[in-house]
Amino acid sequence: MTNLNTQVHPRRRIIVGDGVAAAALTETSTAQAGDSLVVAGYKASQLGRGLAYMSEPRETPWRYAYLLNSPADDIDPDFGQWIVDNWEHIQGSMVGRSPDWLGAAKPYLDCDDKRGLNVPRAFFGDYMEQRSQQAIAALRERGVNVDIVDDEAVSLEQGADGFKLLTASGRRLHADAVDIATGGPKTQRIEGDDGPFCAPELFGHEERIADHAKRGAEIWCIGTNATMLDALRLCQSVVPEDQLRFTACSPRGIMPEPLIARLPRDITKPELSGPYPSAKAFLDDVQRNMQLAQTAGHQMREVRAGFRAFFIEHGLKCFVPDLHEARLVPPTLRHWFRGGTRDTLHDFHRLSLTNHTRVVRGAVSAIESTDDGVNLLLKDETDALVPYKAGFVINCSGAGATFEFDALTRSLIDRDWVSICNRSGGIRVNDGCQTNMPGVRYLSPATTVIGDEVMPMPLYDAHLLRTWAARANKQPS
Ligand SMILES: Cc1cc2nc3c(=O)[nH]c(=O)nc-3n(C[C@H](O)[C@H](O)[C@H](O)COP(=O)(O)OP(=O)(O)OC[C@H]3O[C@@H](n4cnc5c(N)ncnc54)[C@H](O)[C@@H]3O)c2cc1C
Repeated sequence: MTNLNTQVHPRRRIIVGDGVAAAALTETSTAQAGDSLVVAGYKASQLGRGLAYMSEPRETPWRYAYLLNSPADDIDPDFGQWIVDNWEHIQGSMVGRSPDWLGAAKPYLDCDDKRGLNVPRAFFGDYMEQRSQQAIAALRERGVNVDIVDDEAVSLEQGADGFKLLTASGRRLHADAVDIATGGPKTQRIEGDDGPFCAPELFGHEERIADHAKRGAEIWCIGTNATMLDALRLCQSVVPEDQLRFTACSPRGIMPEPLIARLPRDITKPELSGPYPSAKAFLDDVQRNMQLAQTAGHQMREVRAGFRAFFIEHGLKCFVPDLHEARLVPPTLRHWFRGGTRDTLHDFHRLSLTNHTRVVRGAVSAIESTDDGVNLLLKDETDALVPYKAGFVINCSGAGATFEFDALTRSLIDRDWVSICNRSGGIRVNDGCQTNMPGVRYLSPATTVIGDEVMPMPLYDAHLLRTWAARANKQPS
């Protein structure tokens, strides 16, 4: 006999967004025959790509410059297989490109380990888009009415008949439940970063940055993170290496550890018991485990992938039950597990030996445009202000402490539908990614607390986002 209580499905759901999170919510949707599902995003028809895995439709030197920061099979074993299956196309697209991605891939190709490559992100976008199209076809096959709307969602209101989502082109979409997956916060602004010799962020400013790199300007990146590595790839794609002048700066001046896939694949298996009375006691034991792993020969890829798998299986609350203490854990783990793209980190190091790249330690406190470049003031570790000159500055400093969210997220925060975690500044949602407004769920890389689970590692990670999206859809809604 059918239990009617288990049949309570919201009949009309809207998913806002077009990236990995929206795609994962679509793919694992529990919608049944007769239900409707609308996916509304700027480029919902390319669902899965979002901001991070966009395709550059024009043939530019940097079309395939940006790489995934981890090996393909660390993101998704199915993606590793997809690389193998689509190798001819990938190879054909990469022949003759600068930097020489195929050359850097050679050690992996020599041992037939294509799954271990740091693949151009555009290919992960192709994979995600294909996967999303298959998921949509499967939903339609089981009788769900799926509507894909390429549009901006401008406002979400609650009425007597559920929710009403208004789009920029004036469409009014109605639903009983809404998922918001509009991505992470924007790059923080730094005063003066919009001058004639500055870009306030990397993406969308490539053309101008390329022009300045080509005229021989020293390119100065604020940040020593993944976006800075993208900026280096962009410059390498337009300037011969012996003409490159590239500087990266950050307060600690520390580069991420390269994530290097090795055969046979192995991952660290942490032995944490707990519960621990404090964040410090827990972190001490994590550090002990990391040291043991390193002594056993593990590198950052094995350690990071091992802890990530471990935390997916065991939430932080089993180890640090005190929520206040648990919230002290992520900032430290974020630094300990900081990993980046193998190819680019190796290039950065290699080019530093001939002074074509360098790292400067210091926090940018002022950017002043001059007639032919930029004067920078950097605060060093003693708080002294040190002047530098640069040809062109790119702000790659990340989201900063005060997250600047997209307009829709901001409107939900302002109405207290979505809460901010006062410790991390990220988004705090209830179990199953439910917000304070029943029927509305929220998932983005900026989510730091879900129910009583504090995210030990940031969700700026396609695999983790997909994991939490699938979990949200397993919860009764
Ligand atoms: C440049 C970059 C590189 C990255 N590299 C990696 C990597 O190598 N490996 C990894 O695991 N993770 C990486 N990440 C982390 C990344 O955040 C996640 O992997 C994931 O792609 C984020 O997906 P998302 O769907 O939450 O966000 P997004 O990809 O940002 O997608 C959200 C989408 O929603 C759209 N949107 C926003 N507001 C609205 C609105 N009001 N109406 C309609 N649409 C809207 C946005 O335009 C955007 O396309 C990277 C992130 C970035 C930004």
